[in-house]
Amino acid sequence: MIVKIVYDNKALQNFKASWGFSCFIEHNINLLFDTGGRYGILKNNMEKLGINLNSIDAIFISHSHWDHAGGLKKLKFDGKIYVPPSSNLKGIKVDEEEFLSNFISTGEINGEQSLIVKNDDKLIIFTGCSHNGLRNVIKIAEKYGRIHAIIGGFHDFNEIELLKKYEMIMPCHCTKLKRKIETFPNAIECLAGKVVKI
Ligand SMILES: [Zn+2]
Ligand SMILES: [Zn+2]
Repeated sequence: MIVKIVYDNKALQNFKASWGFSCFIEHNINLLFDTGGRYGILKNNMEKLGINLNSIDAIFISHSHWDHAGGLKKLKFDGKIYVPPSSNLKGIKVDEEEFLSNFISTGEINGEQSLIVKNDDKLIIFTGCSHNGLRNVIKIAEKYGRIHAIIGGFHDFNEIELLKKYEMIMPCHCTKLKRKIETFPNAIECLAGKVVKI
């Protein structure tokens, strides 16, 4: 499985940084998780990462905040878009379920859903802002197996010592204790343009 960070507050050289989050997951299918805020930046970073619209099989939107769903409209994607039930975005509303093979939604809590991806016996969690509470997300994911990595916004999650037990953590956009978490040996800095193999 390959994860490409498409959109984040921070970026590698040659990529554009902007408030928001998006990443591209290449697995049994290719899924775009969130779309960042500004389409121009999404498009620029996607191009630089070699992601074209035709290679996206599905889009998953964590929540309808502009910094996660802002780039969606102009992207003009005509495939399946999975959205939280309370959002007024056009798409397929999902509950806690495996909506595509290996791709599980936590279901919506507090307006937001997170994504759990099965990779053999490992689980990788993807979060938008974590308005739904990272603790809740972890609890749901634990029902499906062993958590290997967490990538995305951790919001105001403060039980950060708990994060040390995972093989990899990548605190991105919207993580209050980002700097502190980044000092952990299992932490990887989140930057638009970064490609991680799991
Ligand atoms: Zn956000
Ligand atoms: Zn948000």
